[in-house]
Amino acid sequence: MSPVIPIRAESLGCEPQHQIQTERGQREVFCGLTGIIWLHRKIQDAFFLVVGSRTCAHLIQSAAGVMIFAEPRFGTAIIDERDLAGLADANDELDKVVDKLLSRRPDIRTLFLVGSCPSEVIKLDLSRAAERLSRQHNPQVRVLNYSGSGIETTFTQGEDACLNAMVPVLPTLPAHSPKRLLVVGTLADIVEDQLRRLLTDMGIHAVDFFPPRNSQALPEVGPDTVFLLAQPFLADTSLSLEARGAQRLPAPFPLGVEGTTAWLQAAASAFGVSATLFEQVTAAPRQRAQAALARQQPLLEGKKIFFFPDSQLEIPLARFLSRELGMVLGEIGTPYLHRKLMAQELELLPAGSRITEGQHVENQLDRCHAEAPDLVVCGLGLANPLEAQGLATKWAIELVFTPIQGYEQAADLAELFSRPLRRRIKLAA
Ligand code: SF4
Repeated sequence: MSPVIPIRAESLGCEPQHQIQTERGQREVFCGLTGIIWLHRKIQDAFFLVVGSRTCAHLIQSAAGVMIFAEPRFGTAIIDERDLAGLADANDELDKVVDKLLSRRPDIRTLFLVGSCPSEVIKLDLSRAAERLSRQHNPQVRVLNYSGSGIETTFTQGEDACLNAMVPVLPTLPAHSPKRLLVVGTLADIVEDQLRRLLTDMGIHAVDFFPPRNSQALPEVGPDTVFLLAQPFLADTSLSLEARGAQRLPAPFPLGVEGTTAWLQAAASAFGVSATLFEQVTAAPRQRAQAALARQQPLLEGKKIFFFPDSQLEIPLARFLSRELGMVLGEIGTPYLHRKLMAQELELLPAGSRITEGQHVENQLDRCHAEAPDLVVCGLGLANPLEAQGLATKWAIELVFTPIQGYEQAADLAELFSRPLRRRIKLAA
């Protein structure tokens, strides 16, 4: 087992001292292709073309298949095994697939070529292919590329890679423009509308969301942009926005009443909103959310929760579940610990919280069994065996498919955790 490295509070700029360890070994996580499932629903004129193998096609089809109600906006160009001499053919084939797709689907405005891990795909230079295809299909369609490969990315990092690929093509906000707020991270439309309404009621009107619903309406960015991350897994996108002059507003993530209030407060402070107006705008939804959470609390309070690393939402969720619902925190696994982005969350976690960055799944399973938690948050691959061993589980993937941010969703978020416990009670009755 890796040594536990206590992180001194001062080095993080935070009060409590947590036990943070890093471990490496076999991982049980989905790859970054998974992000296509929520990204294609958000960016309504984009198409995601996975350049991959039959395995990639199966993953994306089975994970997203149940959600297709209309013609899908994702597909897989299957690159079969070939040697380097066959690369010219592979590029020709890709061009043909793209031509056919774009002539059949004139509604597509942005095409993402999404790389994957088979060696035949790694050999292909998808950034050059994207440049070539962009030139060919300009101005109707912009072609961008990113990697969703399981070698490079876990589950939610696909979104980071996708947004990061879009940052260079965001228009420049003219110098000395009035300050604008950019909310970064895919949110359900309903959540986006609620957050926009709250910000507007505070007098913050210059608000853009990234990714946008329409890829032709890309937000402008520049030194007069301040941005708030709505999702914790956007480290590369955050760095790229900073490189374009935008300034990140440090804040916890908008999960639960406390997180949402602090997140909104960061925007309010940046735009000089008075404490009175802030209170006036947030009081009613805050109280509604607190009342709804109180109904979930009896089942969750005092119950121990264990997180396997998966979505990168684990630390903000642990903060919410411990502080607002009284859950007891077991180990908090996270694929990556971005200390800068997590600084405000780490400050709010109970002192001595045990955080594991990375994964050695066998060791972690041993620790999980030893802790005997009431609820385990994990990926699909671990959930069934753990359920069979008598543990209640919550699939981490549901946390990115369900609207969970903001006041109105706080109780829904709590319910995602109380539902498996309720099911266990019913089964035992
Ligand atoms: S990108 Fe890699 S990990 Fe993901 S489905 Fe394809 S082969 Fe599997």
